[in-house]
Amino acid sequence: MATRNNTLKLKFDTARNYAPAPESKSSAIIAERYELFIDGKFVKPESKKYFDTINPATEGKLSEIAEANAADVDKAVKAARSAYDTTWKKMPAKERGKYIYRIARMIQERARELAVIETLDGGKPIRESRDFDIPIVANHFFYYAGWADKLEYAFPNRNAQPLGVAGQIIPWNFPLMMAAWKIAPAIATGNTVVLKPAETTSLTALKLAEIIQEADLPPGVVNIITGAGDTGAALVNHPGINKIAFTGSTEVGKKIQHAISGTGKKATLELGGKAANIIFDDAPIDQAVEGIINGIFFNQGHVCCAGSRLYVQESVFNEVVRKLKDRLETLIVGDPMDKNTDIGAINSKQQLDQVNKYIKIGQKEGGEMFQTSCSIPSTGFFCRPTIFTNVAQSSRISQEEIFGPVLAIQSFRTDEEVIEKANNTPYGLSAGVWTDKGSKIFNMTQQLRAGVVWANTFNQFDPTSPFGGYKESGYGREGGLHGLMSYVKFANA
Ligand code: NDP
Repeated sequence: MATRNNTLKLKFDTARNYAPAPESKSSAIIAERYELFIDGKFVKPESKKYFDTINPATEGKLSEIAEANAADVDKAVKAARSAYDTTWKKMPAKERGKYIYRIARMIQERARELAVIETLDGGKPIRESRDFDIPIVANHFFYYAGWADKLEYAFPNRNAQPLGVAGQIIPWNFPLMMAAWKIAPAIATGNTVVLKPAETTSLTALKLAEIIQEADLPPGVVNIITGAGDTGAALVNHPGINKIAFTGSTEVGKKIQHAISGTGKKATLELGGKAANIIFDDAPIDQAVEGIINGIFFNQGHVCCAGSRLYVQESVFNEVVRKLKDRLETLIVGDPMDKNTDIGAINSKQQLDQVNKYIKIGQKEGGEMFQTSCSIPSTGFFCRPTIFTNVAQSSRISQEEIFGPVLAIQSFRTDEEVIEKANNTPYGLSAGVWTDKGSKIFNMTQQLRAGVVWANTFNQFDPTSPFGGYKESGYGREGGLHGLMSYVKFANA
């Protein structure tokens, strides 16, 4: 491989030309139109309206989806209430668990189809939806199925009881995974749900509705209604809802918090983030470079816990940035259905505009930009992996959530300095620390104000592990035992 500026380079086998390896679309059956899933049936919307869902990699229409209005939301909440009162809360927990196991197994059986649809509808590389999203979705249902009849062990002597009907609103970055994070713990603890997926990525949630129907889950236990922000707002404001579980932007999270204050509705809010990924000079640098790439470019950077602020200790700053640029050049940006693709399509035109807006802001603020030289498709919503050096702590690209493949890099000298910089953010969702020293890891994890701190790794998820934030990243935890707590009240309290 040719060297740049006569400096040492990491040697990657980039000379190898990859033949296209597209995943087959034949397993993905996408109907021309999808209705709302209410009370165990697919029903036409009262609104009589439908909206298109497109493939962000081609801009081609995939299907049209029903738009739920307030009357549809009301129907769904009533179905959920009736299922709660008459069936689900009365059912022995062991029986509830059997249904959830069945759903988990059916997700595994249809994993290929779900992965392909997730990629077509959302733009993420097939490798990620196949190897990350869908396995985690099945694992979440398996994990919470196991808890269904063991709540007395989860919360000894506290007589945990369900809350009632949960209204759940999810974003577009991990569509089916977010649905699983919301639905599995809620129904395992005896609640019923009305879930609203994001407008741009409703298809896999509707496929999940088909699975739920096939699994013979009692009608009304899970209702899936599609639509945009107004549908979400109608769900939040419905008086029949006992709990709101929301994942999305801090801006909408604040609106929801405002809307439910004084209503007695419980809430968990999983909001934005601006994670610090910290590289100390004693870190295994090559592994750290992989961790930086995974931290910010996984899922096109559409990750609330993305390592979007990189802090590198001054003595290894040049080395890390050089290796990072070299590694960036090897990333393949393009067709999400190609198994070689590292970075797929940005989820929507609106989000691409948002990312490009921040790239311009970064340049205007005096940041030194590096983008990879790879070609990107001329149709579809694509963005080259982008990094900025010469970034100030106060710059907007280092303070605000971009939600795209854009990394802001700064240097630091001491532990104290980097702790202060890392915590100097309105968010507090996640962080990463790369060092050889266990004592340094413990020191950092204690002082970083973040719900999750990864050490010598990044973006690791497991159903058994709680996830959630501090400050403007929201409150409440999803996953693990903590995730059950969000859906129960204690009769003995
Ligand atoms: P939103 O927060 O608007 O969307 C999240 C979910 O909330 C979607 O289902 C959305 O519906 C719904 N929603 C929108 N408005 C309301 C409302 N008033 N009441 C109830 N529900 C509502 O995120 P966006 O998709 O608009 O993305 C904007 C920015 O938010 C991104 O650029 C990114 O920075 C951030 N974001 C952060 C996420 C995270 O996990 N931290 C996830 C997604 C976005 P619909 O999509 O159908 O309009």
